Amino acid sequence: MSVTQQQVLECLARVMSPRGVALTNANVLSAITVTDGKVFFSINVDAAEARAWESVRAEAENAVRAIPGVSAAMIALTAERKAGAAPAAPPPRPAGGVLPAAAHRHPHPPGAASPMARQAEIPGISAVIAVASGKGGVGKSTTALNLALGLRDLGLRVGLLDADIYGPSVPRLTGIRNKPQLNDDKKMIPIQRFGLSIMSIGFLVEEETAMIWRGPMVMSAITQMLRDVAWGTLDVLVVDMPPGTGDAQLTLAQNVPLKGAVIISTPQDLSLIDARRGLAMFKKVNVPVLGIVENMSYFQCPHCGTRSDIFGHGGARHEAERLGVPFLGEIPLHMAIRTTSDSGHPVVESEPDGPHAAIYRAIGAKVREQLKAAIAAA
Ligand code: ADP
Repeated sequence: MSVTQQQVLECLARVMSPRGVALTNANVLSAITVTDGKVFFSINVDAAEARAWESVRAEAENAVRAIPGVSAAMIALTAERKAGAAPAAPPPRPAGGVLPAAAHRHPHPPGAASPMARQAEIPGISAVIAVASGKGGVGKSTTALNLALGLRDLGLRVGLLDADIYGPSVPRLTGIRNKPQLNDDKKMIPIQRFGLSIMSIGFLVEEETAMIWRGPMVMSAITQMLRDVAWGTLDVLVVDMPPGTGDAQLTLAQNVPLKGAVIISTPQDLSLIDARRGLAMFKKVNVPVLGIVENMSYFQCPHCGTRSDIFGHGGARHEAERLGVPFLGEIPLHMAIRTTSDSGHPVVESEPDGPHAAIYRAIGAKVREQLKAAIAAA
């Protein structure tokens, strides 16, 4: 007998919330998805209340799993910042349950690991690389996806993990709207699109939801997305990091078994300063910087193709030379890159013979060269 949404709601009506009313009356539930006995939904609460809700999330998950016919339940607790509300205190421990409940067998308590105590390799994946930026809005996610596609074009098996859990943009950039299914081992099956295996927290929660993730939650969510997803065999997994170089990023760089990092910067000075912080962060945790990419490097007119160096381009190349890290390439500020990205048809996929795809492939080739040893060893 197949499980219905109504059955799930009836079950949740018997779980009490910290607000003194049934969970179903607390106005915190997302839409409930039931597919082949697998139940997905999230509980969206104010960040200040997150601590009190973790036990409710666990109780709800256990209750849903007990419904006859349910093979898996995945209930995320998302902490939402109410407009004007002060940030909440961090939860006492990893909030967990962001991804499959089965994930709890990999607790890597943040803070317990020294910068050298890196997580184990992920079976089946030859090289995990990070795409990072000192700040948001520099085109990190657009570059991560097109770089992944460039690596695919070079014949590699590639995955993309959108770890930008503050603002997951991969659902928008890829047009993926469906939720991942679970396999028999209760691992999530990444969504296949454009020949890439793709996973994003945005597949599970709404992109518009402004979430606050404190350090422990970030690591819990990302560790689960790395290890409790059935990635299969990949040459490269590209991780689109959260922007910035704060504690969350440092913990991530420390805990994910990275073979290297690609830093995205725009030519403006400010962003270069931020990029420098990124370099310092990866150095601190002994992750090799594969190089810097200058995005929005120069303006290319979509009509006549004329190039204008409106931001005084070349800063990132100069900076890379000065810091002794490879310079991977310059990507123009071009309307086609923006429109294709924002419509879910990344330029390397939609205009494979165009000049932009060639640039991303060239960057991919430089990255592949540096990962050759890791890929060959696997
Ligand atoms: P980030 O991940 O750094 O926040 P995004 O990849 O989401 O940045 O890009 C921010 C915006 O800039 C998006 O609208 C994207 O389409 C656009 N964009 C990124 N790179 C380029 C580029 N080279 N040319 C034109 N628009 C770009």
